[in-house]
Amino acid sequence: MRLTTLRRFELDTRPIHPETRRALDRRWEELPEHAKTPGQLLGRSAVGCEGTHGVFPKCNLTCSPCYHSADANKVRIDGEHTVDNVTRQMDYLRAVRGPRAHAQLIGGEVSLLSAEDHARSLLAMRAVGREPMSMTHGDFDYDYLLDVVLDDDGKPRFDKVSFAAHFDSLMRGRRGAVRPRNEAELNPFRERFARMFVDLKRDHGVDSYLAHNMTVTPSNVAEVEQVTRDVLDMPFDMMSFQPAAFIGDDRRWREDFGEVTIDAVWERIEAGAGQKLPWQATQFGDPRCNRSTVGVRVEKTFAPVLDPDDPKDIAARDRFLSHFGGMIFGGIPRHVLAVKVVRALAAHPGDIPPLIGLMSRVVRRAGGARKVVKAARRGKVSFKTFVIHNFMDAEQVAPAWKLMEEGVVADDPLLRETQERLGACMYAMAHPDDGRLVPACVQHSVLDPKENEELRRILPLPTVRPGATVTARPSGLTPVRETGTRTIV
Ligand code: SF4
Repeated sequence: MRLTTLRRFELDTRPIHPETRRALDRRWEELPEHAKTPGQLLGRSAVGCEGTHGVFPKCNLTCSPCYHSADANKVRIDGEHTVDNVTRQMDYLRAVRGPRAHAQLIGGEVSLLSAEDHARSLLAMRAVGREPMSMTHGDFDYDYLLDVVLDDDGKPRFDKVSFAAHFDSLMRGRRGAVRPRNEAELNPFRERFARMFVDLKRDHGVDSYLAHNMTVTPSNVAEVEQVTRDVLDMPFDMMSFQPAAFIGDDRRWREDFGEVTIDAVWERIEAGAGQKLPWQATQFGDPRCNRSTVGVRVEKTFAPVLDPDDPKDIAARDRFLSHFGGMIFGGIPRHVLAVKVVRALAAHPGDIPPLIGLMSRVVRRAGGARKVVKAARRGKVSFKTFVIHNFMDAEQVAPAWKLMEEGVVADDPLLRETQERLGACMYAMAHPDDGRLVPACVQHSVLDPKENEELRRILPLPTVRPGATVTARPSGLTPVRETGTRTIV
């Protein structure tokens, strides 16, 4: 074996990649003091999530609210532009945030991309160690999914795909549910979406990770409980809720979003889950922005991986974050992962008993080993994650960010709180040309409107004759078609 191959193997199987270590240390250093809590995951086990911007702003549904700026739908979908900009943004993220992160392929509606361009974008993200998640309204067909996942020879180009599908009754224009009157009406569409991925596994052996996203406003907050109950029984891995904020297209602000708080939504999720969902053991960024808990669902019982009230769980958390925070488990061959885990445990053999202890407590919370085994045989054991992501209003983000760029800490308490949250942001977007990362709140509140104005100029909607525009069908498979009044030219 050549020396370089050996060095490479040593680096690949090193428990924590040195570039990850540097990126984590830098992230921790940059965090505001209030966010440096024992349960903080940023800078200790993760650099945070990433997302694309300005790569396909257009969407073919009309939701109220919508975070896209008013010009988003006037920008043509252009595969070359998408792949080129996804690649540049991801390359930059790779350079400044290390070899591995979760990244959202987000516009716009991802299924308006042709299947080929969608797949090329995912491959570009994977090429630089990003674990991509395609953000969609879920209104596409199985054929489109197959065209994304399979190559020209019908062979899978991915062993796993991740999609986050947005379903709520504030959305307008879904095929078959153009104007839903309540959340329950959307259940068949949620089921149908998730089933496509069960079929994908059955037909082609491709794994998936699915998130269910729901925007929450005063008009549907009372339905969060039932949505939680219903979606928990569907094959989604994550249930994510976003209390609406005043961002994006102000023509679509119809309610007082301020009435819906992060606490109120969490209480309703707990009511739907039929139990408490403790989240305080870990934190991504600022607790006013994010709340989440991960656990195992056995039959109808959710057993959180960490119980914040159990001192043994907290001690185990502290050990694991100190010794293994930043270890990369995904996207690497099994034999490399096996050696990596052995090396990690060999360096900290004292962590094996607490790990076994933690696992046995999770099993106990789930109802005991006998129940878990019985449920596993019936396919009733699954990992579930509950999340709330609480975007901020543009009215505060814009002035708070302006002051931050000038290096000024705001006097106004609300702006100072906004600055604290932006400083601890866990969802970044890349601007390779300026050499900077910005929080998604800033992207949507401050930068998107200008960016889309410019994109509208360089990627105008094609007009084939006066008064007509060209659009693509949601499947992305059908060639472009004309809309508009027919005129004789
Ligand atoms: S995008 Fe906004 S709401 Fe989300 S973590 Fe960042 S600052 Fe907080």
